[in-house]
Formats: sequence, structure tokens, C-alpha cells
Amino acid sequence: MFEVLPAALLGSVIGSFLNVLIVRLPRDQSIVSPRSRCPKCGRSIAWYDNIPILSWLLLRGRCRHCGQSISVQYPLVEGAVALLWGGAAWYYGAGLTALTAAIFGTLLLGIAVTDARHYLIPDEYTWGGLVLGLALAWRNGLPGFWQAILGAGVGFGLLYFIAWAGERVFKEEAMGGGDIKMMAMVGSYIGWQGVLLTLFGGALLGTLVFVPLSLKRRRLVPFGVFLAAAAAFSFVWKDALLGWYAGFLSGPR
Ligand SMILES: [Zn+2]
Repeated sequence: MFEVLPAALLGSVIGSFLNVLIVRLPRDQSIVSPRSRCPKCGRSIAWYDNIPILSWLLLRGRCRHCGQSISVQYPLVEGAVALLWGGAAWYYGAGLTALTAAIFGTLLLGIAVTDARHYLIPDEYTWGGLVLGLALAWRNGLPGFWQAILGAGVGFGLLYFIAWAGERVFKEEAMGGGDIKMMAMVGSYIGWQGVLLTLFGGALLGTLVFVPLSLKRRRLVPFGVFLAAAAAFSFVWKDALLGWYAGFLSGPR
């Protein structure tokens, strides 16, 4: 608990900032100014009404000034990031691995929510996340610096090729540029094997979840959501899964 609680508290504050990113990045607004405002009445929000999770609960999800409802997305994202940071400290123990896991998870959550809402993945998460990933790997984090470079290259190159091939075959844009940049970022955190696992898992999830939903009416596929889920899974279970697969290939004795 000595490390988990402070990590969770830090996570809730970072989740609060992630909410700002989620709302403002797709609109190309500044993320530092103006200060937080009520989206309905425009009055700025005092610090005591801006405490992660607690303020929303105390105000019962309503603005203090105009009384209109504040989206439940705010406390949900704050809570999710708090769990993520606390969970990383608990699972890996305080250290560079936990920090890498927490940052990676936060980026993936931002990507998933933004892609689901707007069908786009802002460069701040992808290029920005890639720079962070390489810096962490440089500091002896996961997966090692050259693995991170290789992973980023494979992620970018593979997705670029799939997008190019898809466009030639289907005569329409099969994958957005955001997905390509996203997989470069993902590769810098989990290496080239993680990229392959993420791509496989994302395609599987997308097929299982989205195809039944989209049979009724044609809609865009926020592929980044499924890639994000598969990337998070790969980060935690990649080594175990690859070990099992190697055993499977070598066959029974
Ligand atoms: Zn208001």
C-alpha cells in the first residue's frame, strides 16, 4: 500500500489531465489555457470543484453555477487512470517498469476514447508517446532501446504496407494514418513481437465485436480501440504467451 496509494493518487491527477486532452486535442485547442470551464455555461471551475473523482461525486455530476449535468466520462477516466497507475505499482512494484506500464496504458486509454468518439487519433498520443517510449527504453526500461527502435520501425512499416495494400485491393482507404503512427508508438513499448501480437489481437477483437454490430448499419470502424485493447493485453501477457507458443511449436515430448 506504501507505493500503490500514492501511485493511484498521481494517476487520478493524470486522468484529470487526460480528460483535458480527450476534449481539446480533437478540436485543436490549447491544452494549457484557458483553465477548465463548464462546457455548458462557460464559467471557470474553481480548484475545489476540480478534484479528481471527488468533486464530481460531491456535486452529483452537476455544474455549481448553472446546474447542468457534467459528463460521467470525467470521473470514469480519472478512476480508470488511478486504477491503472495504482495497479501498475502493485503488479510490477514501484520502478521504471511500472512507470512504463502506467504511461503506456494512459496513452492507450486516450487513444481508445478519442478514436471511439471522433474516429481520429491525435499525433500527441502517437508521435508524443513514441518519443516518451524511446526515452523510457533508453533509461533501461522495457523492451530495451534497440528493441524499441526495431518495434517502432516494424509497427510503422507493417501498418503502412497493410494500408497501401488495402487501398490497392479495396480501392478505398482501409486504414487511417493514425493507426500507422499508433503502431509505431506501440512498437516502442512492446517490441516487434508485441506489434504482431497486437495486430492479430486487434483484428480478432474487431471482428468479434464490431462485425455483428455493424451488420445492421454501415459505420466506421474505430480500429484504434481494438488495437489499444490488444496492445495493453500484449504488454502484460506477451512473454507468457510467446513462451506458451514456443512450447506449442516444439510439440509434446
Ligand atoms: Zn455550468
